[in-house]
Amino acid sequence: MKPLHRIEDICVRVMYFFNVTDSFLPFSVLFLLVIAQTGFLPIGATLFPPLSPSLAFFFIFLYVCCLLADFHVYFLILLAPAIACLFAFCPHPGAILGGSVACFFLLTTVVQIVFMGLPMGMASRSADVPLRMYLHSFVILAPTTISLPVTLGYQLLFTSSLNVLSDAPLPGIGIYALTLLTAALGVRFIARRIPQREIRHPAPARPLYKRVVLLNIDGLSFHAFTKANAPFLHHLRDTFSSADRGADTVYKAFTNPAFASILSGTHPIQHGVINNNFGQKIKTPALPDFIDTRLYGSMHVKHFSRPSWNVSLVSLVELGYDKADDSLMETFKNDLLEQSNTKLWLVDLSRADYCGHAWGSYSKKYYEAIEATDHLIRDFFSWCVEKSLVNDTLFIISSDHGLFIGEHAYGLVDQEKKVPLMFVGQTIGNRKLMDVSITDIAANISYFLGVPYCKGSGGQVFEEMIASGEEPMKGRISTLDWPEIADGR
Ligand SMILES: [Zn+2]
Repeated sequence: MKPLHRIEDICVRVMYFFNVTDSFLPFSVLFLLVIAQTGFLPIGATLFPPLSPSLAFFFIFLYVCCLLADFHVYFLILLAPAIACLFAFCPHPGAILGGSVACFFLLTTVVQIVFMGLPMGMASRSADVPLRMYLHSFVILAPTTISLPVTLGYQLLFTSSLNVLSDAPLPGIGIYALTLLTAALGVRFIARRIPQREIRHPAPARPLYKRVVLLNIDGLSFHAFTKANAPFLHHLRDTFSSADRGADTVYKAFTNPAFASILSGTHPIQHGVINNNFGQKIKTPALPDFIDTRLYGSMHVKHFSRPSWNVSLVSLVELGYDKADDSLMETFKNDLLEQSNTKLWLVDLSRADYCGHAWGSYSKKYYEAIEATDHLIRDFFSWCVEKSLVNDTLFIISSDHGLFIGEHAYGLVDQEKKVPLMFVGQTIGNRKLMDVSITDIAANISYFLGVPYCKGSGGQVFEEMIASGEEPMKGRISTLDWPEIADGR
């Protein structure tokens, strides 16, 4: 890794430590607890019960419950009974409640602006980005500091519960703890349910394509894909095979878990990458483990990849969010010409995702980024025609997750959950695919390359995409039959 990339790697890790609730929540509560002990905070002594072994035990118990509940927004349904118990059993409920809201609101605001708003503002060279991101954070629901309601809700649940568990009579403590644990397990069961789908892994007779190029438009929702000015991508959708109502991403809809699912054909609870925080490696076999693969993208790609995988990085900070994808494409095209043995090429294009996070999924910047990505992909296809690469390449255009307002996580709305997915190749007919998931991508790559399926994976191969001999060739890629688009630039 280049020294600049190493610095960026550390910065991204630090940003995610402070951004993801599973690390930020215990940090913020412990931080306030320590400050409270110093006497520096006038209300500090009221916020927490006195330090004791039982306080430490309750802290760990609560954290385990939150982990079990996946930091899901549904778990915050317990906030109302927790506050009711706080008023029933504790001496200063109003001060605890008011003090917690004020202290955690300030702390989370500062952390969010310092570790997310300002770096994003500097990388985008735009002063309005930190303010926009801060305003978005009041309405976003996600297990990150980018969502004030969820982060504050969990912090409040912590201070209320620590006080209730310390002050309530013993039978009350037992009932309270049991309620927390039952609710956590219930939420886990509901949130992590994997959709029941048939597995279709037919045995391919022979490799149908020499290589697969997977172009992932990071953070592109199906909603925005449909609405955006993206004539070339729409032309491909209308000519070849695509998920008619979008493909479902996985839970949680974060970049690293989704990519691990795309490459392994399994869900996050199976492959073990559950968010973008550090220390998470894919536990199940994935395509780059046994076929020659090259991956291109931002620091995220390095983080979900195994150390042995062949990853080329691009720095959004060094090049700017609006130049990084072009630079990445050039590196990728050079390698594509030189390395004929590589079967799978994965390119993650970051511009749309970046603009969605910085300016919002409704913003002009997000839609301009989609339009720019459309141009980039169109130029890439023209180049492939020129270099005679289209006859033996299957192109897959996908997205890892959608985006709603400025974040994506629980998949509560379709704009987070539904993404475009299309298959483009000389033998691919015009089909509308129904009931599609991004976990189908790995199976289709295996089938069309004639290589084994990932062990333990799910997913469905869409054999029906293969065109029959009689189907018209109009619009096929090698004919460069996209007149209205070719002339329209
Ligand atoms: Zn992403």
